[in-house]
Amino acid sequence: MEYKEYIADIGTKIGILDVIGHYVKLRKQGRNYVGLCPFHHEKTPSFTVSPDKNMFYCFGCKASGDMLTFVRKVHNVSLPEAIEIVSKEFHVDLPPWHMSTQASRERQELLHTLKLVATAFTAALRSAQAEECQEYVRSRGLSSETVEHFSLGYCPRNTDGLVKWCSEHGIDEDSLARAGIVQRHEGRSFSPFAHRLMFPIWDSIGNVVAFGGRAIDGSMPKYTNSPETPLFAKRRTLYALPLAEPSIRKTGTVVVVEGYMDAIALHAAGFTNAVASLGTAFTEEQAVLLKRSATRVLLNFDSDEAGQRAARLALSIADRTGLDVAVVRVAGAKDPDELLREPGGKDQYKVALDQAVSVGDFLLDAAVAGRDMNSVSGQRAFVLDMMESVDGMQDSLLRTQLLTQIARRVNIREEEVLAMYHKGRTRLEQPAVVDPWRLSRRSLGHSRIPTGGSLLSTRSVLEQDVLHGLIHNLDMVSELLPLLDGLSLQDEACQEILSVLRRETSGDTAQVSSLVAQLGPEAAALVGRWSLEEHKLSCQGVRDTADRLRSASSAIIREDGQTDHERGA
Ligand SMILES: [Zn+2]
Repeated sequence: MEYKEYIADIGTKIGILDVIGHYVKLRKQGRNYVGLCPFHHEKTPSFTVSPDKNMFYCFGCKASGDMLTFVRKVHNVSLPEAIEIVSKEFHVDLPPWHMSTQASRERQELLHTLKLVATAFTAALRSAQAEECQEYVRSRGLSSETVEHFSLGYCPRNTDGLVKWCSEHGIDEDSLARAGIVQRHEGRSFSPFAHRLMFPIWDSIGNVVAFGGRAIDGSMPKYTNSPETPLFAKRRTLYALPLAEPSIRKTGTVVVVEGYMDAIALHAAGFTNAVASLGTAFTEEQAVLLKRSATRVLLNFDSDEAGQRAARLALSIADRTGLDVAVVRVAGAKDPDELLREPGGKDQYKVALDQAVSVGDFLLDAAVAGRDMNSVSGQRAFVLDMMESVDGMQDSLLRTQLLTQIARRVNIREEEVLAMYHKGRTRLEQPAVVDPWRLSRRSLGHSRIPTGGSLLSTRSVLEQDVLHGLIHNLDMVSELLPLLDGLSLQDEACQEILSVLRRETSGDTAQVSSLVAQLGPEAAALVGRWSLEEHKLSCQGVRDTADRLRSASSAIIREDGQTDHERGA
């Protein structure tokens, strides 16, 4: 079964509205559905889904494609992973060719290995060899329910035993090495996780993709993680996400902490919407994972100093993703695990969550701290410090709010801060002296090519017009395509669209969604936009435009004696 047939096949079982509606609140508008785009920050919906055409298009950020493209983008995964997610979440069969590529075979093998090793670790924690680890688990106040809920395990001291057990279950030592579980050194096998408490780390749909190991006897490092593999990248993983997701969805809020133990302690205390960022700063990829179920993110940083850097990053993430990001401050800068083990700790933490401050306020407080705000130099330093955070922000509402607050803190008029802000910006911006024809076609994009006056630009407008018309008349495309025979298009996106159109229509009629699935982002955005237009360009218009395009290209050849192809090179 080919991709096209697979899409058609799952299309009969689940609609694009079911899949996208799972992530985006959609409402009907004419023949289409609209909602707030999950891929860019917006306040009025420009994200459009067409059930007739089986595709989506965003008029804001130009994202477009079919349901699998959507799942790929929303989870930030490859096509095989997107197919797996759709199969798992919507209960449809995997296509038979799914296992056929080398990359997906390796991925499957890695998943299988990690799943088996996780079983071995949980079994080992219950055995006699784990006595010291069991004692550690008790000392950390982890109940047997918690141990089971998080599938905690133990990696035995004796790596040979682990290797032997795995090989009896069909996993050889090479596979264990590829998964980062064992290493070989001078003829001996050892594991970087030996004699550690083990935390399986899941992807967003519950596959074990890595492990974290906590030392139980004071050895260093305290925590050790699996290496990055095709399955595991720290910056796009959040520990405990599949366990927390139902609660995040229900409350719209997620608590992000740094360590595994913090997340586990929070869940055990009833804060089941907690996830851990695995010790990295909160990343935009992690924010995208959360955006499908949360609107509000409460960040709980461990230390104040790292906190300021992290807050600055978080501000730009809030700005770019539109998530409402706030900072949780715990008295005495204790980590959540530490606090929750104290009497009354649970109530204190609840208060800390309720009193979370917006990331903007957090930065303002930090910028004020340690400065003499009565002196002019202190005020100036404060304003410049804050402007560094404000500069480059895209969300005008968030930026305006911050500017107002800055003005309030230094007690000067907002316009003065704004003037200072604009003055600072003009200094940074160099006057644009760019010759557009010296830039690569791709970097220019169609919309910025100056129109009129130049034959080249007229041509690329005509090229887009004619393809635009073809997309509106897909039922006639096999009759219309010959109009373009012998013409070489110069717009890269147009070339791409034309070649996919030619390929697709060699058999039966083309579907817009399958065209889009085969195009790069720039070309897909064009076809996506055209196909969702309410009006329809006429067939006669396509013929006329094709004629004009033909005369425009011969005019260029006549004019300077060389083809535009040479000229563009
Ligand atoms: Zn968008």
